Amino acid sequence: MVARVKEQRFVDGGGRDDDRAQDETLRPRRLDQFIGQESIVANLRVYLAAARKRREPLDHVLFSGMPGLGKTTLAHLLATELGVGFRATSGPVLVRSGDLAGVLTCLEDRDILFVDEVHRLQPIVEEYLYSAMEDYVLDIVLDQGPNARSVKLTVPRFTLVGATTREGNLSAPFRARFGIQEKLDPYPPGEMTTILNRTARIFGISLAKEGAEMLASRCRGTPRIANRYLRRIRDFADVEGLSRIDADAVARALKRLGVDGFGLDLTDRRILDVVAKNRGVPVGVKTIAVSVGEEERTIEDVYEPYLLREGFLVKTPRGRILGRRAAEVAGVEVPAECANLFDGLEQGEPA
Ligand code: ADP
Repeated sequence: MVARVKEQRFVDGGGRDDDRAQDETLRPRRLDQFIGQESIVANLRVYLAAARKRREPLDHVLFSGMPGLGKTTLAHLLATELGVGFRATSGPVLVRSGDLAGVLTCLEDRDILFVDEVHRLQPIVEEYLYSAMEDYVLDIVLDQGPNARSVKLTVPRFTLVGATTREGNLSAPFRARFGIQEKLDPYPPGEMTTILNRTARIFGISLAKEGAEMLASRCRGTPRIANRYLRRIRDFADVEGLSRIDADAVARALKRLGVDGFGLDLTDRRILDVVAKNRGVPVGVKTIAVSVGEEERTIEDVYEPYLLREGFLVKTPRGRILGRRAAEVAGVEVPAECANLFDGLEQGEPA
């Protein structure tokens, strides 16, 4: 069944326009084309079947996880599988209660409303959403002062699918209104290889097994990053006139892209450099953001999760210090002061 797509506005924190358009081309069109996240997909299949059987809207869904792991894709697939309409918006776009009323009243019965960056909704909009999510009514207050009056607006039965990179920033009452909550984790190299092989097939390029495996190990377990690198690698290969992309071609292209053997790019290494220069004194995210010329939010949502997970960086209550693995990164010198801090961390001190 094909979803009726009414509006698609994607906010994915940057990326070139043609890359974003290709993100769309690469989006799996059916749930069985979605690779990995097996337990999440298995659960979703049950909830979808139950909702279809009862002809009820699917319960509200919250997807959390780093950018590029497939939250938007899954939201689309829920609509496709249910054969209902899909409408997309994002937290920062819904500023007033009227914006929300406008979006909700355009929906049809059981449609999916996808709200990207749902943690960035204004508190007032979030509160309006409560009654819409629970009872499909909006209590809109018109006018102010003595003329203020409240109007009850019935909205179609709908499913809110929220996506967030920061689950912790959602208020507890809001989070509790999502009956289905799933956290997407980075993909292991085997699944990333399968995703890359699928992308290569769609692009019509010949990607050697070793090439796919090398790329899979250097893209932070994130399909969007993997697909982006593969596009650039294809550019290099086309210009060099290569008919097959082998491990050598991947290694050369990644080097030109500034991606090292750990999958760290230039910005990652600059972040580690800034922290290293502080010689063991914890560095705040503000300082890091200013030093590398990125927004704080981008540092926290896009770069840090991988650096923290892989042990290149450690978060302490006073800021970030280098993690033990930073010593393995070429060009990043781990000061002796940090080594002492590692010992403290091992005894469970600062963290
Ligand atoms: P998010 O919403 O989490 O930022 P997206 O759903 O936009 O991520 O996915 C980014 C890109 O990665 C899309 O082009 C999508 O096709 C691809 N992708 C993500 N997850 C998968 C997957 N499990 N299988 C195949 N492609 C995927």
